[in-house]
Amino acid sequence: MSVKHLLPQGVNWYKANLHCHTVLSDGKHTAREIKELYQARGYSVIAFTDHRIYANHAELNDENFLAIAAMETDLNEFGNHQWSFDRIRTYHINWFDTDPNLYKEEKAHLTQPEKRYHDIESLNGYVEKMAGLGFLACYNHPYWSLQNYEDYKDLRGFWGMEIYNHGCELDGLYGYHPQAYDEMLRSGQRLFAVATDDNHNSCPPEDALCDSFGGAVMIGARELTCPAVMEALKNGHFYSTISPDGRSEGPRIEEITLEDGRLSVRCTPADKIYIKTMGRSCHRAAAAPGTTISQAQFTLTGKEGYIRVAVQDAHGRHADSNAYFLDELLSR
Ligand SMILES: [Zn+2]
Ligand SMILES: [Zn+2]
Repeated sequence: MSVKHLLPQGVNWYKANLHCHTVLSDGKHTAREIKELYQARGYSVIAFTDHRIYANHAELNDENFLAIAAMETDLNEFGNHQWSFDRIRTYHINWFDTDPNLYKEEKAHLTQPEKRYHDIESLNGYVEKMAGLGFLACYNHPYWSLQNYEDYKDLRGFWGMEIYNHGCELDGLYGYHPQAYDEMLRSGQRLFAVATDDNHNSCPPEDALCDSFGGAVMIGARELTCPAVMEALKNGHFYSTISPDGRSEGPRIEEITLEDGRLSVRCTPADKIYIKTMGRSCHRAAAAPGTTISQAQFTLTGKEGYIRVAVQDAHGRHADSNAYFLDELLSR
């Protein structure tokens, strides 16, 4: 049996922040300032997701930087305003444009979802319409949004969802929410997971509450162009890396391979390498106290349903792969 590589081979790896606000909505920096700030920290890709404003900052693109045309829309719960916005549930969705050259006329007049919070069919219809224009839909920060399983189990057509949101981590220590991702997968959805910043930059970079540089994805693509990077995103050729302190680097996943039912993972030095599954049984590898591990092998039972790699280091930093469903993996 041949070796299956779950991460792409022979590609370049680009660090990306897929959730970012600028002065076009409620962020404090211009897109150009964001590019400078993030490039200085080793990033190559930013998705500009201003609230309700679709923006394509293609003028910033060069051989070392790619701006993804994007926006964030929202749908607030109605009829529960006695607590003002503080207790109102809300869907926040990021939209990543796979080809800004298509449907330019329609994109100049993009709309919000219809104001019918409990009408999930209408919301799914909106997602389908946006997908028809070439957008990948990402379900954002359910924890911050005060949403639970009932709010998200029937969503359909989503490309991905956040597993970590750095702004939420600083708001309330509720940035990392892997449970919602597993619940979504167990509800029958097949979607990817992303760690993001959702930076607004009210605090300067040296401030402990600066909301940049905590959640990122590493994208494996053949080159730093819109077609190549969007193709990589569409195909799930990326993983998340999370550093809640916003100053240090999160762990990296270097390789995931499957051969003859044996799953191997290589990563930067970590405390734990786990394989999460559809059920409660995980495959586990843990470093002895005071040491680290940077690789692990596991024998799959074939009953995992899906597998996803979760790496954690001794400083509470994470790397999370996307979920891989065994039926798809084995038919590849
Ligand atoms: Zn949001
Ligand atoms: Zn946001």
